[in-house]
Amino acid sequence: MPYSLHDLLDDVLAGHRLTEEEAVWLLKTRSRDVWDVAAAADELRERKVGDTVTYVRNQNIHVTNICKNLCGFCGFGRRADAPGAFYDDPLTIREKALTAMARKVTEICLLSGVHPDYTLASYTDLISSVREAAPGVDIHTASPDEIAWAAERSGVSTEEAIVRLREAGLGTLQGTAAEILVDSIRAVICPRKCDTATWVRIIREAHDLGVRSTATIMYGSCESAGDRARHLGVLREIQDDTGGFTELVPLSFLHENTALYRAGLAQAGATGREDVLLIAVARLFLDNFDHIQVSWGKVGTKMAEIALLSGADDLGGTMFCDDVSVDAGGEGADYLDPGEMQRITEDIGRVLRQRTTIYGMV
Ligand code: SF4
Repeated sequence: MPYSLHDLLDDVLAGHRLTEEEAVWLLKTRSRDVWDVAAAADELRERKVGDTVTYVRNQNIHVTNICKNLCGFCGFGRRADAPGAFYDDPLTIREKALTAMARKVTEICLLSGVHPDYTLASYTDLISSVREAAPGVDIHTASPDEIAWAAERSGVSTEEAIVRLREAGLGTLQGTAAEILVDSIRAVICPRKCDTATWVRIIREAHDLGVRSTATIMYGSCESAGDRARHLGVLREIQDDTGGFTELVPLSFLHENTALYRAGLAQAGATGREDVLLIAVARLFLDNFDHIQVSWGKVGTKMAEIALLSGADDLGGTMFCDDVSVDAGGEGADYLDPGEMQRITEDIGRVLRQRTTIYGMV
């Protein structure tokens, strides 16, 4: 790099848009320079969204863990004949939706495996029944990979599939299945998922139809700093054109019960330094995103608090249930009480506010 780290951070604070090469440099920061990167990100956070820390009162509902993809980084998805495989019937899903309503959630997140037998009608039926049981709640579901699968199985375009999901009651799309948007990495960690170009196309179609989505990054398995920067670059390009992403949700790889780690193809998750830097560099690089979330279910509440001092401004959801993280080895990943969120937030001199899925204040 032609200049010092501190000159670069000063430039970013003065409005310079980071290049991917510069982002790689920042992601590789070591020693106490890490805190300088975090402090610059924290300053940008303060300028952009002030001292408010947000969360959404939501509940995950897992319909099935039977999955066609069997991604190596996932401890949740399994074959239909594997021990622990489940598939909930419509009555059970309805009961779960009613339980969510009793918990006064504003968002229900349908987060499941990609069942090999699913068609578009499976998704629309599911969404309709949740919509009926939980009117007024944002139904947050369907990753681009699920949309690609449902569209293919039902012989319609992915655009048509999104329209039909929206008619059934879809509120916002999950920006999951992104993992790392570099095909050479996808070939190792999720070879049966849609490729980068398909993910990008479907997200753009959704945004163009007025359906907003989250953006995610699953980091800490086998990708390089360059791959992380490329991924952030892809997201920034989309956001420049559509403005449809609500926030970035960084998902730190939970390695314990995964085939990828057992096979020696992945490291044992990101380090604390990498967690801090991913949040901080995301804040500095994604100048067109308002919100950077920290996923307490992936990094724990203590690291979540540090992330809130490193550029993050959102604590995600209450969740009530997260088998995806628990099955991968995450401890205490199910439910975070807003009272505990308040304690974390007050401890760093910030203010907790409840938000909707698209960041309206409740
Ligand atoms: S990450 Fe999603 S698509 Fe991949 S195996 Fe797990 S449940 Fe299936």
